[in-house]
Amino acid sequence: DTISIINKLYNENNASREELLYLLDNIDSKSKELLIEKAHKTRLKYFKNKVYIRGLIEFTSFCKKDCLYCGLRRTNKNAQRYRLSKEDVLECARVGDKLGYKTIVLQGGEDAYFNDEVMVDIIKSIKREFPNNAITLSLGERSYESYKKMYDAGADRYLLRHESASKKLYEDIHPGEQFEARRRCLKDLKEIGYQAGAGFMVGIPNQTNEDLVKDLLFVKEFEPAMCGIGPFIPHKDTPFKDYEHGSLEKTIICLAIVRLLLPKVLLPATTALSSICENGREEGLKAGGNVVMPNLSPMSVRKKYSLYDNKAYILDEDAQYKNMIEEKLKNVGFEIEITRGDNPDFK
Ligand code: SAM
Ligand code: SF4
Repeated sequence: DTISIINKLYNENNASREELLYLLDNIDSKSKELLIEKAHKTRLKYFKNKVYIRGLIEFTSFCKKDCLYCGLRRTNKNAQRYRLSKEDVLECARVGDKLGYKTIVLQGGEDAYFNDEVMVDIIKSIKREFPNNAITLSLGERSYESYKKMYDAGADRYLLRHESASKKLYEDIHPGEQFEARRRCLKDLKEIGYQAGAGFMVGIPNQTNEDLVKDLLFVKEFEPAMCGIGPFIPHKDTPFKDYEHGSLEKTIICLAIVRLLLPKVLLPATTALSSICENGREEGLKAGGNVVMPNLSPMSVRKKYSLYDNKAYILDEDAQYKNMIEEKLKNVGFEIEITRGDNPDFK
């Protein structure tokens, strides 16, 4: 039954395909409560009540890809495109450092302007000024050589959600893209030495519990240093505009299961979670989450980085309001940790 599967997840950090599917299909409110309690207990064991904080810089809204779900897809003619200059990025990094954000995340569409030379220059300039801070990149699929050059320039981590571990679903939502190519990128990132982050969306149109079980098993097997999990949210200018967003409840369940499968993983309570529910971030942290990523991008570009509708622009998704974020987290028993916040297994 669901209770014994949750206990197995807690005691052995593992479960079979059949058990995970049974759990997703049959979880009721009582077993959900137990799952969240066990996930929380596990995070306390490895991370106490600490929450790592990252400053997110959304540095380009240009993208050559055409993911069906994303507002930045290249065929969205209504998207507002922008690029930050190196100086803009450095200024964001300075603001972040002053506020105590010892990791910055550079995220953007797949934009050919930011070739290896440009990226290496940006990474080296940040590291020159802030040698002790960590840089996380999230710029999609690139070659092994490209990842290696950016790593050698000083990048520490790379977020590349696998999006879906079901080949059919992956290829349905990424027309013309190959499932194996994304897998190759993740493997390359790990091999090069990055702390690599995988992750997936919950509630993608036509996604089944079987698909989600594949995601959970992939995460267990790949053992990413980070894992980004958030609900799918529709964007009005995409083919998925008429679909419902993924549920808060199912996203929370997936977060908690991932915490039990990989006790030491860095698990953000994502902006998408805050965007579908006012307390989404706090709920995510209570279910095993241990990272938050407030926005450091210049105010003038924030609304242009529009992945989905009603993205949380609320104050406490803004890096400038660190005290307020700190206060809110304190109210639910968490404390912000001002360090780089590497994965504990990372040497
Ligand atoms: N372009 C890079 C990539 O795709 O890996 C990095 C930026 S991309 C905007 C970051 C993440 O946003 C994606 O991995 C995807 O899971 C998420 N995302 C995009 N559109 C979304 C939507 N409509 N709802 C929820 N998450 C979305
Ligand atoms: Fe581009 Fe990433 Fe959006 Fe896909 S999810 S369209 S790669 S920004």
